[in-house]
Amino acid sequence: MSAKPLQRLCGRIAIVTASTDGIGFAIAQRLAQEGAKVIISSRKDKNVQEAVSTLSKQGLDVKGLICHVSKAEDRKRLFEVARKSGGLDILVSNAAVNPEAASVLDCSESSWDKIFDVNVKAAFLLAKEALPLLRQSKAGRIIFISSIAGFQPFDLLGAYSVSKTALFGLTKAAAIQLAPDNITVNAVAPGIIRTKFSDVLTSTESAKEEVLSRVPLNRLGTPHDISGAVAFLASDDAAYLTGENIVIAGGMASRL
Ligand code: NAP
Repeated sequence: MSAKPLQRLCGRIAIVTASTDGIGFAIAQRLAQEGAKVIISSRKDKNVQEAVSTLSKQGLDVKGLICHVSKAEDRKRLFEVARKSGGLDILVSNAAVNPEAASVLDCSESSWDKIFDVNVKAAFLLAKEALPLLRQSKAGRIIFISSIAGFQPFDLLGAYSVSKTALFGLTKAAAIQLAPDNITVNAVAPGIIRTKFSDVLTSTESAKEEVLSRVPLNRLGTPHDISGAVAFLASDDAAYLTGENIVIAGGMASRL
């Protein structure tokens, strides 16, 4: 990053799930650069240790633990760490899976269940379980990481695309419910971002060319393209913004 990040999140405590790599890691880094204390997590201890070490060496205030978002006991530990750290102001629900490349009605039942378990049900449960802590915050924030595929389904990411559309509904409904608590709920829908998750879409020159033909800005996004918008949503600059979904997709079509 060239310019020094703003310092909008001093005194805030944030949880970012699936934050040891890719978009989640960039979000954790950016929230911490803006002054938040950030709790990072993912399924594998080795990844957690590496991410904590990398960010700590940058002078950032982070701690980490294992949290597979579908496991109730892991989520319980996650919120326990937040409570012991002083509370929770910002929940970024970022974890998602896509176990099978298939058109929507070719998806196996087991893949459908896994996709909805991680991408939708765990997001719902994280938000629900975060509430006791978020309600004690002066400016609680829930941010779901959705996808451009939620607007414009990708053929071979059929069920995944539907799960990401479901997050838009969850965002709207939860925003209305939590407005009286001054907790905002928003989503960010990334376009095609260069991470391990999107490798399959860009692994050959022809695949990359096909993907780029749908991106008016004519480049793949980077995790940093996403993290600044999440920091904005987490900050007081977005105090009057709730129930929305910010598309960051280089101009790709995004209409339901
Ligand atoms: P990524 O680079 O593959 O990173 C995945 C991260 O998730 C890793 O830290 C991984 O660590 C963790 N993880 C995976 N399954 C998990 C689980 N069940 N519980 C907790 N952590 C888990 O992925 P990404 O591209 O950054 O994607 C992040 C989010 O952005 C996802 O919601 C994805 O749908 C969305 N998105 C991505 C793109 C894109 O083009 N990349 C586009 C639109 C939306 P461990 O292996 O240690 O668990």
